[in-house]
Amino acid sequence: MSDNNHKIEDSAQFDIIVMGGGPSGANAAIAAARDGHRVLLVEKHGFLGGSLTAMGVGPMMSFHNPAGEQVVMGQAEELIQRLMKKDASPGHVPDSVTYCSTVTPFDSEALKVELESMFLEAGGELLYHTHFAGADIDEANRVRSILLCNKAGLTRYAAKVFVDATGDGDLAAALGASFAKGRDADNAMQPMTMNLKVGNVDMRAVRADVIANPDNFDFDMGVEEGLKRLAETSRVSLKAYVKTWQAAKERGEVTVPREYVLFFETATPGVVIINTSRIQGLDGTNPHDLSRAEVLGRQQNLEIFRFLKQHCRGFEKAIRMDSASQIGIRETRRVRGRYTLTAEDIVNETDFPDSIALGGYPIDIHSPDAVETNSTHLAKNTRYQIPMRCLVLDEPDNLIVAGRCISATHEAMAAFRVTPIAMAIGQAAGAMASVSILEDTPANQVPYASVRKRLLSANARL
Ligand SMILES: Cc1cc2nc3c(=O)[nH]c(=O)nc-3n(C[C@H](O)[C@H](O)[C@H](O)COP(=O)(O)OP(=O)(O)OC[C@H]3O[C@@H](n4cnc5c(N)ncnc54)[C@H](O)[C@@H]3O)c2cc1C
Repeated sequence: MSDNNHKIEDSAQFDIIVMGGGPSGANAAIAAARDGHRVLLVEKHGFLGGSLTAMGVGPMMSFHNPAGEQVVMGQAEELIQRLMKKDASPGHVPDSVTYCSTVTPFDSEALKVELESMFLEAGGELLYHTHFAGADIDEANRVRSILLCNKAGLTRYAAKVFVDATGDGDLAAALGASFAKGRDADNAMQPMTMNLKVGNVDMRAVRADVIANPDNFDFDMGVEEGLKRLAETSRVSLKAYVKTWQAAKERGEVTVPREYVLFFETATPGVVIINTSRIQGLDGTNPHDLSRAEVLGRQQNLEIFRFLKQHCRGFEKAIRMDSASQIGIRETRRVRGRYTLTAEDIVNETDFPDSIALGGYPIDIHSPDAVETNSTHLAKNTRYQIPMRCLVLDEPDNLIVAGRCISATHEAMAAFRVTPIAMAIGQAAGAMASVSILEDTPANQVPYASVRKRLLSANARL
């Protein structure tokens, strides 16, 4: 096929193509490649990690439920162990915000290398700097190939099974799959955030300030627990400067629609991620909205950085490092699959016959239109299940969806969207793709027993 300007080339046939190299896609690709399949992992950036690298997100939260039981293991935990061996993560540390029991800081450069190594060691093939551009369906309504766009032009890549791990469900949407966006009432989605890394922060001074002025900080489990965790943790997380921020807002110094400065110390002491800007009312699948969000995010970060330097102890000599290479997108499309996970399933811990991953993170909704963040904290021993049916559609039968765009409501997605759970879902997607090929069964009909066996043998928790 060609038009006047573009010739479309055909590439080799793969067993499995994973579209998107974020936490879910990288793990799907690693799991499938470890089973010996010919796997192509396609990513628009020049590195893996998705939000954790490109959007400057961190720490990973949380591998544990509120009681402190580890509910995410498998490849995600293997990644942390590898990072720890290289001194690139302190491992799971107490969360001093007291929102979760633990958070897991990491060095984002090391993460890029480690994810790449895990995939390449398994024999996978990487294709960076490449955008998804379209897909085509055969007579049996199966995905035959996808069209990719890069420096070489447009190329068609064929495979037996496809995994959509774009976060936005780009592949599923192009195939005409039904999807939802945002809240039921008005389709409004969680806001975007431009994360900013700030260095040379005097963390001893920050800690002393928290101890001296605890009522200027917001601890989900109260001041006493917050100060206890602060003393225990090697890396600080804070919902900070509540009163100082409010006063600066009243003086007109800051306009960001946020309640406080949320920040997290990274694996590198004194370097923090400022997760505070908030861009509401825009759609992360609309390129014009995305462009506007990038501009607004950087403008908000100027205000936030100035506020920190002027008013916050420990930030006097802080230096602004890079903002993330792209705006952080919390929520866009959620594909409508064979089962739609709900908030009730999360809160009541529905027992599914086809659980492929567990989570313990609360329902965490950054308001689409107000200066608030709405959380539903879960019972201490929560281990909610993600069913396999949320990853597949009735048609096409050779498509698996992984990560934050699986089939769920706005509220349920606000819980499992975090990176440890996205990695667990990704590993399951890779196992499903593998079973589909090994047992010559359509990906949306793979026997759960086979997937379960593979996941358990790879140390996953179901
Ligand atoms: C601002 C912000 C703060 C957050 N804070 C935390 C936190 O502190 N801790 C935590 O654990 N989680 C946090 N999250 C949630 C978490 O980061 C994401 O929900 C999670 O990364 C989802 O993983 P994913 O693999 O589904 O998608 P993504 O991480 O979005 O990965 C998708 C990948 O696909 C690629 N891609 C997308 N479309 C295309 C295309 N058309 N062509 C080629 N490649 C494409 C992208 O470049 C990306 O690499 C935060 C998210 C945001 C936005």
